[in-house]
Amino acid sequence: MPLEADRVYNFNPGPGTMPVDVLKEVQAEFLNFNGSGESIVEISHRAPQYAAVHAQAKADIKELMGLGDDYEVLFMTGGASTQFALLPLNFATKEHPGSYVLSGSFAEKCYKEGQHLGLAEIVASSKETGYHHVPQQDELKIDPNAAYVHVCYNNTIYGTEYHYVPDTKGVPLFADMSSDMLSRPVDFKKFDFIYAGVQKNLGPAGVTLVIAKKALLEKSPESLPTMFRYNTFLKKDSLYNTPPAFCIYFVGKVAAWLRKQGGLKVMAERNQKKAALLYAAIDNSNGFYRGHADKESRSFMNVTFRLPSEELEKKFVAEAAEQKLCGVKGHRSVGGMRASIYNAMPYEGVELLADFMEKFRKANA
Ligand SMILES: *Cc1c(COP(=O)(O)O)cnc(C)c1O
Repeated sequence: MPLEADRVYNFNPGPGTMPVDVLKEVQAEFLNFNGSGESIVEISHRAPQYAAVHAQAKADIKELMGLGDDYEVLFMTGGASTQFALLPLNFATKEHPGSYVLSGSFAEKCYKEGQHLGLAEIVASSKETGYHHVPQQDELKIDPNAAYVHVCYNNTIYGTEYHYVPDTKGVPLFADMSSDMLSRPVDFKKFDFIYAGVQKNLGPAGVTLVIAKKALLEKSPESLPTMFRYNTFLKKDSLYNTPPAFCIYFVGKVAAWLRKQGGLKVMAERNQKKAALLYAAIDNSNGFYRGHADKESRSFMNVTFRLPSEELEKKFVAEAAEQKLCGVKGHRSVGGMRASIYNAMPYEGVELLADFMEKFRKANA
């Protein structure tokens, strides 16, 4: 697919690139949604037209994930960062703390929210070794008494990703999938609670997806404020108060787009092919590009690497932008480059970046 006029290849980590087909559809029906004479942002969240959007988005997400009636999709707000606090508030106690695997910045932030409440413990960490890998099964010291084990499935900043589902010995498994949600098939049934801020891979910032076992969501303590209880969202179908309707509508369109592409298996094949191009450019660079992630933990979504000097890194960012390859600067805590190649990043964009890496290396090595 050629690049639309006036657009660039957007490698930003989040907000991230969105499917052009979806952007165009949203644009086309923005003034008059489905013959209503109103915009989707003007329609009542109690109107039947919105109800259909809400229900279809939920159904498509569950269909893509292969989940049944024992799971519920919630639409919440406050981003993944708010989930960090809601998890211990709803599920952990002093007797049954939340267990956390530290694999990067967001995993650590999540742990800190639990720690702040005195309800958290660490079951494994790759912090001491610089977050180059995701802790493997044999590194996990599962506490059978824990309320849950929390993992961050794709570490957006470090560029590492889980390539296995942790065996938590019966303790409920919770995952932050903000940056790899719906990018590949996973055995989602092994998870009890999954959440994602959608702005990386699925839509505009403003809605947070929660997909969790109904039996678990029902357990929120009544002592919490109404909007902090998962059970409120479960009982009221995420319509206790005004939901972020536009974001939900948009995410629904992305879910429909994913189904049209062939679902998560097809997305995984495409995403792996794209990632392979960039990892090959790193591996075949005679050390000019140094990848951050250990090979067995490499992310299909965020490819992180450094150049021989900060001067060259600045030059790389500037010259890439001239080629319409934008947003490749890494997070300040890791430095270097980060190419985020979410579902909507076309193969051609990644191919151009890989070619650019090769040319840049030859000119500057
Ligand atoms: C971006 C990100 C977050 C933070 O998400 P917000 O929605 O901005 O709170 C949390 N976890 C991961 C893995 C992320 O990539």
